[in-house]
Amino acid sequence: MTTAVRFQRVSRHFGTVRAVDDVTLDIAEGEFFAMLGPSGSGKTTCLRLIAGFEQPTSGHIEIFGETAEGVPPYRRNVNTVFQDYALFPHMNVLDNVGYGLMVRGVSKAQRDKRSLEALALVELAGFEARRPGQLSGGQRQRVALARALVNEPKVLLLDEPLGALDLKLREQMQVELKTLQRNLGITFVFVTHDQGEALSMADRVAIFNEGKIVQVGVPEDIYERPRRRFVADFVGSSNVLTPDFSARTGGPHKWASLRPEKIDIWREETLPDATVRHCEAKVISVHYQGAVTRIATQAGGQLLSATIPSGSAKVSPGDIVTLAWPAGALHVMEDEA
Ligand code: ATP
Repeated sequence: MTTAVRFQRVSRHFGTVRAVDDVTLDIAEGEFFAMLGPSGSGKTTCLRLIAGFEQPTSGHIEIFGETAEGVPPYRRNVNTVFQDYALFPHMNVLDNVGYGLMVRGVSKAQRDKRSLEALALVELAGFEARRPGQLSGGQRQRVALARALVNEPKVLLLDEPLGALDLKLREQMQVELKTLQRNLGITFVFVTHDQGEALSMADRVAIFNEGKIVQVGVPEDIYERPRRRFVADFVGSSNVLTPDFSARTGGPHKWASLRPEKIDIWREETLPDATVRHCEAKVISVHYQGAVTRIATQAGGQLLSATIPSGSAKVSPGDIVTLAWPAGALHVMEDEA
């Protein structure tokens, strides 16, 4: 398997800020790779390092086996789609898409041909004479994508490309982007702080915190088997059990995660057997979410959320309930107890 992008102990410091701090990472050719993390965690700086807009303070970057340090952005086989699209307002769609080719001295006839092909790829055939101001947000997004694709990059960097779109359009573009990536086979490196987006689109996800990658893995690993409290907290809505609570309910004296959908409300007099862990908890709130209802509870100092099929139990805030979960549902994390 060819490595598209390799980071070896890469850091980028701005004064005392460690924007990227000792990151080692391999992104495979053809991979849809998401960088996920809170604001300021270093995702964009990583993209800019790949694009060549930033240079590492230390460490080494390779793109398709070639040293990237010192290679200017336009000589890397990499293109970026920015969140604000950065389209030229006074140029029509065709010229916006062909701009990069013009800078590289490609003839007008050639660049128009290739730009029309790129516009067809993003399903914008027929829009070439319009100005960006005459397009919807989603259409502008597609123009930005076509403008990057027309250069036939081997790696496409996308910095929150769907951030400016409303939810419905965003979901539609998620599907389209993923399909396009599959069909073209281009390596996508996608920055987002939307965990649902990262998990649903990416082949692998890297979770960033304070300039470091805390965990990298396939979406299922990240969601089901977070290695650290930070990941469990950030990715979705898992319960993070303190070592004391875990021990009190029969688990190890370690930090552990427990997904809300694994917890049930026990309604019988007796509990079935020793493979089921349980505790008493007080219901704090009940949120109907359609197919499931989310119940927030408190067991001593431990907050526990359970999602149960709507209509399967009648509970109200203030009720004392018994929560039960299979022993195997507990996922032990690596944080110090
Ligand atoms: P967001 O999701 O908000 O875009 P991010 O994870 O992409 O955040 P970065 O933009 O990579 O984060 O920033 C990482 C850290 O580096 C932040 O603390 C930021 O303020 C700092 N930083 C980034 N660029 C510079 C710069 N040119 N000069 C000084 N500090 C910078």
